[in-house]
Amino acid sequence: MAELAVVGSLNQDIRLTVERIPHSGETVSALGAMRSPGGKGANQAVAAARLGLSVTMVGAVGADTAGEQLRARLAAEGVDVSGLAVLTKIDGTPVGTGTATILWEQPESTIIIEAGANAAVDEAFVMSRVEQFRDARAVLCQCETPLGALAAVAHEARGLKVLNPAPAAAVPPTIRDRFDLLVPNRFELAVLAGAAGAPQREEDVLAMVRHLGFPGNVVVTLGSDGCLVVPRDGGPVAVPAIQVTAVDTTAAGDSFCAALVGALLSGDQLVSAAQWATRVAAITTTRDGAIDSLPRRADVNGISARAQGPRPVAG
Ligand code: ADP
Repeated sequence: MAELAVVGSLNQDIRLTVERIPHSGETVSALGAMRSPGGKGANQAVAAARLGLSVTMVGAVGADTAGEQLRARLAAEGVDVSGLAVLTKIDGTPVGTGTATILWEQPESTIIIEAGANAAVDEAFVMSRVEQFRDARAVLCQCETPLGALAAVAHEARGLKVLNPAPAAAVPPTIRDRFDLLVPNRFELAVLAGAAGAPQREEDVLAMVRHLGFPGNVVVTLGSDGCLVVPRDGGPVAVPAIQVTAVDTTAAGDSFCAALVGALLSGDQLVSAAQWATRVAAITTTRDGAIDSLPRRADVNGISARAQGPRPVAG
């Protein structure tokens, strides 16, 4: 049994570098194109494996070249892929590997996701693979697969259940509140809370977390502002980001989640785990790409000296 099971998505990322996003009806030429393995589930699985965890992945790809490349890449990174399905159809309709088409207008990206085989990862699918994750020490989920996948994990997993509600999704409290740890960014927090806009000031982030009434621990990632740790028991703590020259923030949140879970499994308290995750995520932002940008444990030591200490937050 792996220490960590990741139940989630695998995509082929197609990144088109553009000078600007085209208007409706307009055609523009890309300045460059890059195809690479991605998907939040796959990124988090590889991130955890590179940090030294034993990881199994539950998900689905199509019976195509992109699917084979994803499967081979995960296996090469040491992730157990025995829980990965290779599908040709969903309910009789032909299906391929999911794709994320990324219009990269530095420093921002606009992303269009086509779920493909990820759409098959529903409650029945995940239940059919319950042996892969039920006794794992932790299970990590995101929202690029149907909500039923989360329901199955919420009901069946016996280890630490961690939800990264990304991309933003209104996960019903009946499912959400069965998780032990929630790791949203500020936009995802707003959607979970049913709020009109993302909170900007630290006190507004904290108020929104409190409003959520989530019974477990919450860590809100705040990009270059670091993260806000809101433990179930105890006062909130801000962990500042590490000052780096960010070139591509793709997979920063994914590496953060994987590192956070890994540190918790090794016995760290929540704030120390968030400090470790902050270091791992900072390195990810200094490198191009998704899976390619994920650091290994040894890479993190060099950046530790630049970390600022955590700061208690009133409230
Ligand atoms: P997501 O990628 O899911 O939107 P964030 O943008 O909040 O998530 O980033 C996740 C984490 O990555 C942050 O909590 C922070 O630790 C780190 N991070 C993101 N952007 C930067 C940056 N510009 N400099 C340093 N660390 C960063």
